[in-house]
Amino acid sequence: MTKLWNNPDDFPKELVDGFVAANGRHVRRVPGGVARNTAKRQGKVSVLVGGGTGHYPAFMGWVGPGMADGAVCGNIFSSPSATEAVSVAKAADQGGGTVICFGNYAGDVLHFGAAVEQLKAEGQKASVLVLTDDIASAPPETPEKRRGISGFVPVFKITGAAAEAGYDFDEVLRVNAKANDATFTLGVAYSGCTLPGAAQPLFTVPEGRLSLGLGVHGEPGIDEMDLGTADEVARLLVGKLLEERPANADGRVVALLNGLGTTKYEELFVVFKSVHAALEEAGVTIVDSVADELVTSLDMGGLSLSLVWLDDELEKLWLDPVDTPAFKRGAIGDVAPISEADAVIAEDTKGEIPESDDASRAAAAQAVDGIEKILARLKEQEEELGNLDAFAGDGDHGIGMVRGATSALREAKAAVEAGAGLGTTLTRAGQAWSDDAGGTSGALWGAIILAVGGSLSDTGTPTNDDAVAAFVAGRDALVKVGGAELGDKTMVDVIVPVVNELEANGSWADAASSAPKLAQDTAPLSPKIGRSRPLAEKSVGHPDPGAVSAGSIIEVIANLIG
Ligand code: ADP
Ligand code: MG
Repeated sequence: MTKLWNNPDDFPKELVDGFVAANGRHVRRVPGGVARNTAKRQGKVSVLVGGGTGHYPAFMGWVGPGMADGAVCGNIFSSPSATEAVSVAKAADQGGGTVICFGNYAGDVLHFGAAVEQLKAEGQKASVLVLTDDIASAPPETPEKRRGISGFVPVFKITGAAAEAGYDFDEVLRVNAKANDATFTLGVAYSGCTLPGAAQPLFTVPEGRLSLGLGVHGEPGIDEMDLGTADEVARLLVGKLLEERPANADGRVVALLNGLGTTKYEELFVVFKSVHAALEEAGVTIVDSVADELVTSLDMGGLSLSLVWLDDELEKLWLDPVDTPAFKRGAIGDVAPISEADAVIAEDTKGEIPESDDASRAAAAQAVDGIEKILARLKEQEEELGNLDAFAGDGDHGIGMVRGATSALREAKAAVEAGAGLGTTLTRAGQAWSDDAGGTSGALWGAIILAVGGSLSDTGTPTNDDAVAAFVAGRDALVKVGGAELGDKTMVDVIVPVVNELEANGSWADAASSAPKLAQDTAPLSPKIGRSRPLAEKSVGHPDPGAVSAGSIIEVIANLIG
């Protein structure tokens, strides 16, 4: 359990600040994360890594020569925002384009995808690179649905080495895809993890039992069995991974054994002894090995094994020297510190507040009241939303929604004080929600509120038709960005029917009464999209957390407007 913290809300930011203070030779603090503090090389492809914090050494521990140029750091277990990713990308840019590597979590896919679109719109080369090494998270027929776990280290290392070796943008993409296709991981856990400041663990594994294939965010495993000996665990992991040996593999591997947080190094070595023996018995050639903490989940007890099937190119890139705070191989030699000019961080400006009139400013003040009421309601429901998300997801939905609404309220208040009208106030609130909430729902609510704000003006009192049109714009943004359909068991199952009805009859009273019920109606469904999909059956019988929070938000707003 995490015992030392100041204010739990500040924990993710403070840990990055402290990491930078302790590793100034390698990294500097930039808005949204960290960037290399070593000399830039003009024309080099910048490799960014990222995701939620709570997984050290993932991700900031890998910033340095031979691996990543920057790390985008989110809140605990939840994705950073697109704005944060763009900020780190700009700080780390060296003119050769930017690749952002992450682990196929829905929130990361949305936020990093949006960041890449923004960079491209500004004329830069940029691409997402998605890691899919976890064999427990989807069957071999759909590898693109698998999530990323401790295969981060070899795949990011190989990608970073390619960029360091001078590969151009397309070649870096090619090598990354090859490394990802060659990397397979399976994990086991025997105890859960507790978020800083939380009274209860996110999930537990019964004493003496082993959960097979759980994710790094505490998503429960796919199977449970007796714990067994170190030998038995090692042979279970090796056996399952060898079943996925690619047809074209010549038998050379890197084997990486990863401790998830509270597993002792001594235990890792005992397990690795059997891993090594089992791989040799299977006729596999172990080119290189790692037994270390690579991707943790706070204080989770357990481990994961990754195998990377090598060819000559991957072998060379894996063995190239690397020097980062948490991962070093070979000797990289002296690297000059970053030049003063390159270390400058562009100022973050929100721009001027556009002109508004009294009527719109009055509406903006009402919107602030509305956000205050939404925040109060979400705070009441925070624990319930977290519990619903823990059945098959990662338990962070309540925290994320409260964080988003808190930031939205802060920015909306600041905008109103600065004289903003309704449209600008909501646009700023949406941007703040997207920046700070994290997670899939953070990206989606950010997009919804941005669209609502974009549809409203900074002059005049909005009519009922204007309000309905704003909801329609929000609904359309949700569907476009998230891509979920009715029945996928998401917030779409509440928002789409309510807004469709509103569009048809303009009745806020109907919207207020139907939204919470539609949320409860998601209980029997099985999730088809998002974090809960790999464990779909565990969610059946419970309403979708995002649908429940959406139901509450619509109820609060409809009661205010109606
Ligand atoms: P994460 O899943 O990244 O941890 P949250 O827990 O905050 O994010 O939010 C989970 C909720 O997000 C789900 O309950 C679901 O309602 C919603 N959601 C997930 N993916 C989508 C999607 N593609 N479209 C619409 N809603 C989604
Ligand atoms: Mg979640």
